[in-house]
Amino acid sequence: MADAHVVRGADRVLIQERGPGVPEGIYGAECMSCEAVSPLFDNDSLPVAVWALQHSQDRPDHTLFLARTECHWRVVPRPDDPPPSSSSGPGFVGPAFVGLMCLLTALSGLLPALTS
Ligand SMILES: [Zn+2]
Repeated sequence: MADAHVVRGADRVLIQERGPGVPEGIYGAECMSCEAVSPLFDNDSLPVAVWALQHSQDRPDHTLFLARTECHWRVVPRPDDPPPSSSSGPGFVGPAFVGLMCLLTALSGLLPALTS
């Protein structure tokens, strides 16, 4: 479930977006001495560190970087009736989620047919 960064407003809830294809964090850095900006990497800060080291090797006086970690937030409508137990709340499932589950079920049924 969305365990991190839940902020409740009057009728909306802010959650950190998670799920298939959604990175936990997007890493990047920029040089504080020039305009150089690293590429962005999902879920891995190591390539950004390598980029900073290489940039500093090319220009030895460029030693300060601004490193960023970004993630997606989503605001969703607050459910009218909060479920009694926060661990399992089928009442919060919307039509889009049900449609996604149907699609996943169809795909998992299709996979054995493709591999055989
Ligand atoms: Zn630089």
